[in-house]
Amino acid sequence: MNWLSNFIRPKIRSIVGSKDVPDNLWQKCPSCEGMLFHRDLAENMNVCTHCGYHMKISISERLELMFDDGKYERMEIPTVPQDPLKFKDKKKYSDRLKDAQSKTGEKDAIIVALGVIGGNPTVVAAFNFAFMGGSMGAAVGEGLVRAAEIAVQKNAALIAVPASGGARMQEGMISLIQLPRTVIAVQMVKDAGLPYIVLLTDPTTGGVSASFAMLGDLHLAEPGCMIGFAGKRVIEETIREQLPAGFQTAEYCREHGMVDIVVARQDLKETLSRLLSLLMRRIVDDAPVGGPEGGRGKKPATSKSEALAAKVLSAGVAVAHPTINKAVIRQLDPANEDVVPVVGKNKRRARSASRA
Ligand SMILES: [Zn+2]
Repeated sequence: MNWLSNFIRPKIRSIVGSKDVPDNLWQKCPSCEGMLFHRDLAENMNVCTHCGYHMKISISERLELMFDDGKYERMEIPTVPQDPLKFKDKKKYSDRLKDAQSKTGEKDAIIVALGVIGGNPTVVAAFNFAFMGGSMGAAVGEGLVRAAEIAVQKNAALIAVPASGGARMQEGMISLIQLPRTVIAVQMVKDAGLPYIVLLTDPTTGGVSASFAMLGDLHLAEPGCMIGFAGKRVIEETIREQLPAGFQTAEYCREHGMVDIVVARQDLKETLSRLLSLLMRRIVDDAPVGGPEGGRGKKPATSKSEALAAKVLSAGVAVAHPTINKAVIRQLDPANEDVVPVVGKNKRRARSASRA
């Protein structure tokens, strides 16, 4: 590869006429149609340098940018029976699985990783959209259950990163059973008094958004990502009404209370570190009331979620569990220029706001 193949845009290259140049050096932004050089794009975390459009990112890149120093440990997920229904449509499900496995080099559509974010022990359960559209079958459900178990064992926070079209149809009822299973899994984390954060990425739809993905203590979302259950067209045909522009985007969901923070990829690491430090500080210092370490003679709170709310409140964040007070969210949002720490007067104001 020479300077010509590296830096000349495709159109100019076609004039120059060199045919042996690889095509994947330049990519077109799906939003602004600007041309992006592969190295610039990689440096900018797959975010368009012209318009800020967030393109899909590989699961390993995603995990590297989330964890401290990009280091994490992959956790083993128990194996599940493959193709239990011997399902076949145009193609056998077992063949589809094999294709996806050889294409991605992964066993299924989820990866569970343990590491440290902002100095806080954290388990991340991330979906791999490249594996059959990130669809949720038995293996993915198993992965989420395992992630929750590890979080409780290690006294770590749990972050789920869905990127999924929903349940895996080829597993029928078995894929639907994963919905209540994942709900129970995240409840285990909450019962242990540990934070559960969801980072919604493009797309979060179907059965995933009907289960664990909408149950976070905090919902973060990538700019412009699609969040919903059924698609816009299906809803419009059912209710026979035009839906507003920007419907089901991260920004729309934030305006309507489904998402707490829309966070750009560049700010993701810092935002997660800050949130986890706030939520985990007291949890690490003194074991959660009634949690796995026992109460240590403390007066038990009425419920575990209230205990967590009390802990976070004392750490300087006003919460009305499970949704953190809007005033506080504004302060935690990196997009907000006048970020003020919640102390003194602000703290009192935030508290009274949370009561209101
Ligand atoms: Zn763009």
